[in-house]
Amino acid sequence: MSEKFDLIVIGAGPGGYVAAIKAAKAGMNVAVVESIRVGGTCLNRGCIPAKAMIHASGLYREMLEEAELVGLSASNVSYDYSKIVEYKQGTTDELVGGIEALLEGNGVTRFEGKGTLQADRSVVVKLKDGGETVLEADKVLLAAGSVPSLIPIPGIDLKGVLTSDGVFSLTHKPESLVIIGGGVIGVEFATVFANLGSKVTIVEALPRILQNMDKEVSQNLKMIMKKSDVEIHTGASVKSIEQGGEGLIVNYEEKDKPAQATGQIVVCAAGRKPNLDGLFAEDVVIAMDGKFVDVNEKFETSMPGVYAIGDIINGVQLAHAASAHGICAVEIMNGEEPSLNLGAIPGCVYTDPEIAQVGITEADAKDAGTEVICGKFIMSANGKSLITHEERGFVKVVAKADSHEILGAQMMCARATDMIAEFTTAITNGLTVEQMLAGVRPHPTYNEGITEALEDCIGESTHTVPRRKR
Ligand code: NAD
Repeated sequence: MSEKFDLIVIGAGPGGYVAAIKAAKAGMNVAVVESIRVGGTCLNRGCIPAKAMIHASGLYREMLEEAELVGLSASNVSYDYSKIVEYKQGTTDELVGGIEALLEGNGVTRFEGKGTLQADRSVVVKLKDGGETVLEADKVLLAAGSVPSLIPIPGIDLKGVLTSDGVFSLTHKPESLVIIGGGVIGVEFATVFANLGSKVTIVEALPRILQNMDKEVSQNLKMIMKKSDVEIHTGASVKSIEQGGEGLIVNYEEKDKPAQATGQIVVCAAGRKPNLDGLFAEDVVIAMDGKFVDVNEKFETSMPGVYAIGDIINGVQLAHAASAHGICAVEIMNGEEPSLNLGAIPGCVYTDPEIAQVGITEADAKDAGTEVICGKFIMSANGKSLITHEERGFVKVVAKADSHEILGAQMMCARATDMIAEFTTAITNGLTVEQMLAGVRPHPTYNEGITEALEDCIGESTHTVPRRKR
């Protein structure tokens, strides 16, 4: 006996659960199948726990370094790592509970177990508490997410070599760690553990950390992290890991010369791969795009009625992108036009200062031969940044030379990850520099940096205050 639904969603991460709720609200009878825990990587092993740890560790560093600057004295400032872990877990649990309630409140049927798509489009679920059930539906949405990639080098399976999943399970703070990969995960973990006083070394194969971000952003971040005693080796490819030194030794090649870094643990933050393990029955034939499930612009796979979204398809691996895919895929299933612009997905990095960008950079425009005007504002002249001692960083804007339509923005400053949404809205709605300037921004706010960068774009900067010497 099988149960019948209008839609079966496999995976209840930010792609799957958002799609399931959207579909249920549209009147579909929806089942969602999740093998680990509702919330997926984002809530359980990614965005939320990482940001909780960044918040806790950042507060500790601020108390140590910033309190005195504003006339406060804080003595015996310390932390209990197990309590930071408890706080992180509590935050995650609260949000997971909220999503479970939302799914239930919207009438979505939840199956706890591993879902496998069959050639006839049915889904066999191996239930967590034993047994098996078969689900059928006109439409199946694959939203199984991604898992950390391990690089195939000797020693990668040694005890103490962790992926991001393993780092969140640590019960003690490591005194020293080597991070393989200076991408988003690498620099965010480096921020946490440097804040807590660990000795951190990043080894990155490419010429710069955060290679996909604006060049000035990655150069500045490297400088800032070095000031926080993070050792960074770029153009340095890891070849093997062995036991020794403080626990583990990472052997890498930098400028063709062999070198070593040592730490109590090694974190492999070298990218993530689609989670396809057990997703398809052996006789399923589905077109792939390299290691990703291939989809067309409607999120349709090569199997009729089967859609795929989020980290298992080729594109940016971001929680908010997966949620946006989920909403659009459900709209398309129901014959509607997608309501979201998937061409302007912001990217955020929760370092100190924060980093955020959307649309194109000046370098992208140059490569594409697009004539642009650019504006920049250095945040050391922003009132709010001076108050909070967060003057490091800048806001950059890129606009079309002829129409002044906003094409992109890059920010490295306090609250950059919140403020970038102004530019996402602008790009999505085709706003110009002048239209963005027409709205009055409150004072004193970090957002005034946006006004300044926009004014600089058209050569009309008016508000700049003298920079304070520190
Ligand atoms: P990434 O692709 O951003 O970075 C991995 C880095 O590892 C690359 O720079 C690569 O050059 C380097 N690398 C690979 N092999 C190496 C070797 N042998 N030696 C040295 N360096 C090596 O991947 P990630 O940081 O693991 O993140 C995975 C995904 O998760 C990304 O798509 C990221 O956007 C997403 N994510 C996003 C956020 C956020 O939005 N704040 C946070 C965490 C992760």
